[in-house]
Amino acid sequence: MSEPQHAYAWQMAQWQDVQKQIRAERLPHALLLSGPSAIGKLRFAQALAAYLLCESPGELAACGQCRSCHFQSDASHPDFREISPEEGKRQIGVDQVRSLQHFSAQHAHRDGGRKLVLIHPAEAMNANTANALLKTLEEPASGTLLILVSHSSSQLLATIRSRCLQLSFGIPSPELTEPWLRDYVGDQAMAQRLLAEAGGRPLAARQVFDDDGLASRERFDKGLMALVDGQRSPLQFAEEMLDADILQVLDWWVARLLSLSRYQLADQALTAESWRRFKSLPAKSVIGSLERALKLRSSFSRGVALNKRLILEGVFLEWAQLCQSRAVA
Ligand SMILES: [Zn+2]
Repeated sequence: MSEPQHAYAWQMAQWQDVQKQIRAERLPHALLLSGPSAIGKLRFAQALAAYLLCESPGELAACGQCRSCHFQSDASHPDFREISPEEGKRQIGVDQVRSLQHFSAQHAHRDGGRKLVLIHPAEAMNANTANALLKTLEEPASGTLLILVSHSSSQLLATIRSRCLQLSFGIPSPELTEPWLRDYVGDQAMAQRLLAEAGGRPLAARQVFDDDGLASRERFDKGLMALVDGQRSPLQFAEEMLDADILQVLDWWVARLLSLSRYQLADQALTAESWRRFKSLPAKSVIGSLERALKLRSSFSRGVALNKRLILEGVFLEWAQLCQSRAVA
């Protein structure tokens, strides 16, 4: 059984708002979760749906164990519908929304239980579709909760907005998002930079890291081999890596050297097979390079102003010379 989904740490205020409504049995039949994209509104909506369907929820999340949670985890809950544009389409189809009328007319499978409909993003409904949804809203089938998620709620029909209780999500505080992103990327300063680049939106920041991280790392590994094979000069390679995050590049460099060192000295498995060719390099020189890389890394992470280009040129030149001196094949 997988862990039940929680709302993110930066959404506790909204979570508690909803909890109050639930405890007072004042939860309306339609909620509108609005705010900028990539801050986790959909996750909040899914966690809330699981919570409301759960047979024995805790304070912060569904239990993850009951029959309802099992259904929910393999996306087969008979009392839950999630509607978003079908694959390859940008709009939610009117038929998708019309099918809700049948769904909400049925009784919940659990006695006294709720049924839930999650629609995201709500602005992907055109006027036709939105009107079909209004019909559903006008005849609130008892026990059905509609959760709309919108990145742009001003685009929704006013008649839809007015029927929903609106929960607003702003750009979350870095105090709460930084630790989360730091755990993911493994570096505080980089987490700060990514968040700044993404305008404070944590999921967008993580996406930047995922996209760029993988492509740049591949570029780095390939470039290093080209350097050793004499197909790139250290200056060219430094130029190529200038747009990558310097701390990230140094992290990769440290990780590769560490792995090589352990392979040479303790016969541990390499993290990259292609590095087997460096086995004959003097272990002492490899450790020397590793120590210098660690020092550079720590200077950069303390915010010491260093010339990125010169640093990279120095690192690559040293490595190329070391490999040439040993004629690494
Ligand atoms: Zn449960």
